Amino acid sequence: MQITRRSFLKLSGAMGASTALGLDFKPVKAYADELSKMHRIKTSKQFTTVCAYCSCGCGLISSVDSITGKIFNIEGDPEHPINEGSLCAKGAGFFDLTEANKHRLRKVQYRAPYSDKWEVKDWDWAMKRIARLTKDARDKDFIVTNEKGQLVNRTESVAHLGSSNIDNEECWLISMSVRAMGLVYIDHQARV
Ligand code: SF4
Repeated sequence: MQITRRSFLKLSGAMGASTALGLDFKPVKAYADELSKMHRIKTSKQFTTVCAYCSCGCGLISSVDSITGKIFNIEGDPEHPINEGSLCAKGAGFFDLTEANKHRLRKVQYRAPYSDKWEVKDWDWAMKRIARLTKDARDKDFIVTNEKGQLVNRTESVAHLGSSNIDNEECWLISMSVRAMGLVYIDHQARV
């Protein structure tokens, strides 16, 4: 259904009268929200880009508000030869990683062993603690040689599970770093 500015104003007037009569306006309000989104889409700039999460390299269209310069939508590119508009759950959730997502975690949340409370910590504290625990666990069970006496220099007490929100280059860096520490249990959702 196409709604002109005039019919939208008529609809809005009807909304005011109907409220007094106790009528349900949710559908009209939803349509008004939809209109403002359509307006933003009309005036926005679209850029094509590529999902960085795995080696498939699906194409994305990023819509940027021409006034604020902020991204307000990211979706699959129907003209891209690899994904033809479709995205997996990670790619489809790309927009939630932008600053537009008010629920994105920005601070370190720490819960001490046996505690039922979360505490907010800073990143320096978290990085030092992760490094300390990793080093202690690695040194405790470091295997220098296997049962045949061959040099293996590995640890089986620490594993690394890659995040689904890191890109190919970050995955490569992490793989190299954890292998250098002797880890053999390394996995990632995209198996880079
Ligand atoms: S993570 Fe998903 S959307 Fe992104 S490139 Fe890989 S398959 Fe495509």
